[in-house]
Amino acid sequence: MKKHSLIPDLMLDNIYEITPEFLKEKEIRGIVFDIDNTLVPYGVAKADEVLSSYLKKISDSVLAVGLVSNNNENRVKLFNDNFSFFAVHKAGKPSPKSIKAFMEKNKLSKDQVLLVGDQLFTDCLAARFAGVKCIIVKPLEAENGWFFKFKRSLEKPFIRAYKRTKRN
Ligand SMILES: [Mg+2]
Repeated sequence: MKKHSLIPDLMLDNIYEITPEFLKEKEIRGIVFDIDNTLVPYGVAKADEVLSSYLKKISDSVLAVGLVSNNNENRVKLFNDNFSFFAVHKAGKPSPKSIKAFMEKNKLSKDQVLLVGDQLFTDCLAARFAGVKCIIVKPLEAENGWFFKFKRSLEKPFIRAYKRTKRN
């Protein structure tokens, strides 16, 4: 069965459920994270100790970690200061370009790469366009404003469809 572009492989409560053991079991060698609302809320510039040690642990267990964000250069640079991961700002997701660049740089094939994000229409779709696996986590903070509410309402049928596939 062909995978639906907007249905993730897995939906989790948060990133910490993705462990080195899990990545090993799934044979993931490269992991790409969205930043905003996946790793930290929009207003938080830096990773705290818990997140830093988690990312370092993950980084030790794979070949490469990437940060792929639609946010601006400052935001991504500041966050990545402590890590020096492969990072792309203004990635233009759902364009798969930045994920493909990550794969190319690290010589990874599609089935070795996992994208982790919080939004179906940007993160999951970008992963699908790149042909890589996708995990969607619950956004760290509820977004306000009509645009985000509208986007979330569009996601609902796909989240329901995901839950149906997991029940069967
Ligand atoms: Mg996000």
